[in-house]
Amino acid sequence: MITVLSGGTGTPKSLENDYFSGVYVSADIDTVLYTMADMINDELWYGVKDDTFITHERLEEIGCPELLRIGDIDRATKIQKTQLMERHGLKRACEIQAKNMGIESKVIPMSEEYSDIKIVTDIGELEFHDFLIKHQSQPKVLDVKFSKVSPTEGIIETIRNSRAVIIGPSNPITSISPILSLEGVREALKDTYVVAVSPIIGSNAVSGPASKFMEALNVEVSSVGVAQLYKDFLDNIVIDDKDSSLNSQLKQIVNKVTITNTIMNSLDAKKNLAQIIIDCIP
Ligand code: GDP
Repeated sequence: MITVLSGGTGTPKSLENDYFSGVYVSADIDTVLYTMADMINDELWYGVKDDTFITHERLEEIGCPELLRIGDIDRATKIQKTQLMERHGLKRACEIQAKNMGIESKVIPMSEEYSDIKIVTDIGELEFHDFLIKHQSQPKVLDVKFSKVSPTEGIIETIRNSRAVIIGPSNPITSISPILSLEGVREALKDTYVVAVSPIIGSNAVSGPASKFMEALNVEVSSVGVAQLYKDFLDNIVIDDKDSSLNSQLKQIVNKVTITNTIMNSLDAKKNLAQIIIDCIP
């Protein structure tokens, strides 16, 4: 078994874990489910491809505008998740939905508890989605805070029983740090082979606000900074060809450095990167 730690897979989807229009929106989990079920809108990496927006438009017409544009099929998933969650909790809700979508892999939310990310900025403390959407990630970031929650039952065992853990190019501060802060996760990762793909090329994130968050937390905005965040458990960092000059510096932090094209701008590029990650696993 191979485990992948994932937060968002793109800025708009990071509107994780909140209620909108009465439905629970765990956008990141839904993105994982839709991706694995081949239903994802892969232009936005949010919602379902070819979805319709009849409910969203009608809500606007009758005076209930939504911050999020939720499609009809996507909304059905969210309505079902809300109902299942109330009865069985989030982990079981995800299990049931994954099964319904024909997904064989396990998709496990990091916690049954509400995990809240706050961005402390020069204009005040903002909810993560307000920072991203309403303020378009523009304010100066001073700090990033998230609530301490308990890991979902079985997460630690899942990591420990994995042949390897892959951390894809994810925002290390808002997507991965909350997972790493769960009790027992870092320790379990130390005992498992971990490969991480750097989301930073040169001194910038490929997309999204990761650089801003790293800067605010005094983490060097580079693959070296990413390696430092993961250094207690990381075995192999995959960096882009453009950063090959960081090789020797990185080798002082991580056992193995893999250099390749990490820009996933085509299906071939994605497949190549996936193959390289798999080949990294001993
Ligand atoms: P976000 O920061 O809100 O987008 O949250 P995510 O956890 O989804 O972060 C995705 C991370 O992946 C961002 O920090 C991007 O810099 C990075 N990223 C996006 N596309 C690519 C890519 O094609 N290659 C690499 N190496 N990184 C990417």
